[in-house]
Amino acid sequence: MQLCIMFGMFYPQEAKGAMTMYCTQCGSKTSAGVQFCAICGQNVQATMQNDQRDRREFPFWIVGALVGATVGFLTRPAAFLVGQLPFGIVITGGSTLRGLDSLFVPVAQRSLGQMAAFAIIGGFIPAIVRKLRTRPESK
Ligand SMILES: [Zn+2]
Repeated sequence: MQLCIMFGMFYPQEAKGAMTMYCTQCGSKTSAGVQFCAICGQNVQATMQNDQRDRREFPFWIVGALVGATVGFLTRPAAFLVGQLPFGIVITGGSTLRGLDSLFVPVAQRSLGQMAAFAIIGGFIPAIVRKLRTRPESK
C-alpha cells in the first residue's frame, strides 16, 4: 500500500485498487508484481528498488546513534577508586582485563551496556522527531 502512495505520482492507480505501472525503459504498461517488462524485458522490480534507494533520506538515525553512544559513554558508571574506565576497556566489555584489573569487568560491561542502550535510543530519536513533525495538523 505504501508503495502505491510512493509511486502514485508516477504510476496512476486504476479502479479497485489494482495498480498499473509503466515500464521505465519503454513506457509500456506492466502490472504490479511483474518482474520483467513484457515488451522490452526491462527488470521492472529492480528499477523500482533503485528508485526507492535513491529516494532514501539521509540516515539521521546513524547520527542519533552516534550521539547516543557518546552520551552513554560520557555518563558511564564509575569504577571504585579508579573512576570511569577508558574507552578501550569499555568497548571490549573489560575482556582485556587480567588479574586484579578483572575486578572492573562488571563496570566495563555496565558501561558498554549503557553505551549500547543510549545508541539504540539515540537511533530512534530522529525517526520519532520526524514522525511528530510530519504529523498532519488536524483541527
Ligand atoms: Zn519495457
